[in-house]
Amino acid sequence: MVFWKHFRPRQAVPQTEPLPGQVPNNAGGHWYAVDDWAKLDRFLVLGSEGGTYYVSERALTLDNAEAVLRCLDADGPRVVRRVVEISQAGRAPKNDPALFVLAMAAASSEATRKAALAALPQVARTGTHVLTFAQYVEGFRGWGRGLRRAVSGWFTAAEPQRLALQAVKYRQRNGWALRDLLRLAHPLTDRMETRVLFDWITHPLSETAITAARAAFPLIEGLYRARAATSPAEVAAVVRHYALPREAVPTEWQTAAEVWTALLPTMPPTALLRSLGRMGAAGVLTRHSPAAAEVVRRLKDRHALARARVHPIQVLLALRTYAQGHGDRGKLSWTPVREVIEALDHAFDRAFATVEPTGRRVLVAVDVSGSMQGTRCAGSPMLTAHQAAAAMAMVFLRSEPDAQVIAFDTEVHRPDLSPNLRLDRVEQALSQWSGGTNLALPMQYALQQEMLVDAFVVITDNETWAGTQHPVQALAEYRRRVNPRAKVVVLATAANGGSVVPDDDALSLGAAGFDAAVPQLVAEFLRG
Ligand code: CA
Repeated sequence: MVFWKHFRPRQAVPQTEPLPGQVPNNAGGHWYAVDDWAKLDRFLVLGSEGGTYYVSERALTLDNAEAVLRCLDADGPRVVRRVVEISQAGRAPKNDPALFVLAMAAASSEATRKAALAALPQVARTGTHVLTFAQYVEGFRGWGRGLRRAVSGWFTAAEPQRLALQAVKYRQRNGWALRDLLRLAHPLTDRMETRVLFDWITHPLSETAITAARAAFPLIEGLYRARAATSPAEVAAVVRHYALPREAVPTEWQTAAEVWTALLPTMPPTALLRSLGRMGAAGVLTRHSPAAAEVVRRLKDRHALARARVHPIQVLLALRTYAQGHGDRGKLSWTPVREVIEALDHAFDRAFATVEPTGRRVLVAVDVSGSMQGTRCAGSPMLTAHQAAAAMAMVFLRSEPDAQVIAFDTEVHRPDLSPNLRLDRVEQALSQWSGGTNLALPMQYALQQEMLVDAFVVITDNETWAGTQHPVQALAEYRRRVNPRAKVVVLATAANGGSVVPDDDALSLGAAGFDAAVPQLVAEFLRG
């Protein structure tokens, strides 16, 4: 290697031995433990579902829950504020970690408990959210008065037509139904419309309740009409007339092309993303079809995506699933339409908040070691940390004129990437490597190539072990010899407990890698 002819790091310490202040990581190397607040952020964004290549789901969840408990002890209301902030802005691919932490806070000291319960409607925004919260919170505390009152408040504060939609869509979740919650909390309200709805939810078989609910809620009237329909054409007409969601369509009509065509115009963006394959299989989403044009139009609507809190990772997931032409279990298959894949590709960028390019020279280094392929992105069975990291790298390549992307395991690789390369191809371009891990390489490479870099952006699980020099030593050397102001951003792809840079380095930033706010956070840091 040419590099060693020019330069020998002073007192290089192999990564299998710690530097002062480091602790062992999970891979036989060493890192700096991140503080509990950084851990809280990682957990809220990345979750622990599926564990990592090195840590089981159970161990990772326990570790994070312990960090959350310490944060709650230190400053419970701050925890609640952070949960609300990340959940409301749609920064995490999944809302479940936010609901989990909120449930923990709801069982904490009095001030924290109050803050958590008051925040319930802000974090639990849908029927499925509140049912998930109910399941979590039971693990931490009993159904005391405060909790019942908060759940009761969730029901009475909801706008009745919107609540009716929730009741139609989410009938059950992990054994909990809205009916159970209503019976537990028995909210009281003067609003006639709401009382009719509560009555229908709690007495779904009562003729009186059904008649009243049908009269008061067009959506519920539509639900019963769809159930009584005897042909796809009839179901489609009902769906159109009442703007029914797919959940209101009886199972036997859910594969009919006419029904899908009727559902599409009012389908919310997240449902749209999840239904592309089914629409393809039903023969609705074909080349040059009106449905394809409609899907493309909807995916271009940045505001609608933002309103629905569509997360870039959800878009990426939809792209991957749709582009492969068949479902998870291989039951459904379809021919992917190119314009739809391209629209998804652009929607991935659009789902991030817009950021002005910083113009800085950024070297993006994607960890392509085996552990990145062995870890799921935010628990998704369809997406690895490796694939999501590749897509994140493209965000910089597409938005920053002076960005370059390298990949590394125990060697540096130069994938052939251009800003307009489609994300499914990007994954292919990066999937050829899966070796060990040496996180000192990006900095060593920049030094060896005499690259002038303003910032290294490393996307990694931080589990480094293979180098003869630590990443911070390589960084120090780069700063000494090339650019003393070189910054480092470490985008963590797992909710584990460490980072390769210590948090007292003023020129370093750590963030949860799949946070929708990453481009913003990084741009602010690069400018600051
Ligand atoms: Ca690794």
